[in-house]
Amino acid sequence: METNELKKEINDYVEKENEKLWKLAIELYDNPELYLREYKTSEILSTFLENEGFTVERGVGTLETAFIASYSKVKGSKPRIDILAELDAIDMGERFPENERVQHACGHNIISTTATGAGTAIKYIMDKYNLQGEIRVVGTPAEEQVGGKIIMLENGVFDDTDASMVLHPTSGTSKIAGRCKSSMSFEVTYNGFAAHIGNHREKGINAQDAGVIFYTSIAALRYQTKDEIQMFVKFTDVGKEEGIIPSKCKMLVAVKCFNPLLLDGLAPKIRNCAEGAALATGCTVEIEEKRGYKGRIYNHTFEKYLRKNFEMLGEPLKEGMVDDNGGEDFGDVMRKIPGIMPYPTLIPEKRVSLHTKEYLEHVISPRAKYVVGLGSKVMAYTTLDLLLDPSIIEEAKVEMAKELQKEKEGE
Ligand SMILES: [Zn+2]
Repeated sequence: METNELKKEINDYVEKENEKLWKLAIELYDNPELYLREYKTSEILSTFLENEGFTVERGVGTLETAFIASYSKVKGSKPRIDILAELDAIDMGERFPENERVQHACGHNIISTTATGAGTAIKYIMDKYNLQGEIRVVGTPAEEQVGGKIIMLENGVFDDTDASMVLHPTSGTSKIAGRCKSSMSFEVTYNGFAAHIGNHREKGINAQDAGVIFYTSIAALRYQTKDEIQMFVKFTDVGKEEGIIPSKCKMLVAVKCFNPLLLDGLAPKIRNCAEGAALATGCTVEIEEKRGYKGRIYNHTFEKYLRKNFEMLGEPLKEGMVDDNGGEDFGDVMRKIPGIMPYPTLIPEKRVSLHTKEYLEHVISPRAKYVVGLGSKVMAYTTLDLLLDPSIIEEAKVEMAKELQKEKEGE
């Protein structure tokens, strides 16, 4: 069989299954759950895949809601390709009434439905034509908080995986994701000494002054960094007492850049700024450093196939691999296992921010139904390319190593 004929069969299979998949997307939309509490979501998806003939393992990588649904026609055969299904919804905050605050305003219902659609379609072909390899649909919790994929990666879930992909819906023109940003943050707390501002100001140690000095030090430091580095600093708490010299001041610094190695060089400088301000004012300082997700890297080897498959399905795409300033936990995965990320659009006519009320309406629109089919097909096509020619994966692994080396050199 020619590859294109097999793709035609995938296309027909997804067309036939699309109503069922769309019902799944709606069911997930109707049951939004926050990070690490995606119990219903995990159950709905894993049961669906079990009913489709996948072998399901629940509670993997130390996460209760994570699951692996795997299928291979020829037991133990390679390559192993993982399609990731993100499970969590987000808290919309005060913008929504109390009982409607948790919503799928990032479209993870579409992510997990397309992963399921692609998985079942490729299983159908593997089964029918005795294809070598293993396909796994992996339920990955807590993308919005914590970073479930990173925990699963650290706990060995992806140890024997050869290639991975995850889809994310977007707005504007469809695209293939390029790099996104690595991040770290610092919570800095200054402790001074409270004193009356009129009668005893000489006894006070002003923690807010330390905060101001820290703020300006960061502003100065910002000018001495590479263009790709974004640094944001803000006061988060200076107390509310009136007539008293502030004895406590809390600050937050958030740093983002493409190359995570740049963060290693920047962290001690930020600490110096924090400690310098403490010294200048006589305050004590507590510094809490947190490392966030690592950014995605390019994989043009996979891009080439994914682009060709999008074109085959008639979907217009932006040129190249498109960088963005966001961050997500797939970046850590694709630094260990070569990966790729399709971003089909839910709103072709304009750009709409994720996590907003407006975007939420589009994750359940007629176009979303189309994207469920499109996303399932494009990921199944690309998986098929890799199963039929595993040398593509070897090439992608080499490219991944080169990209990581480039980061080392650009440090
Ligand atoms: Zn998302």
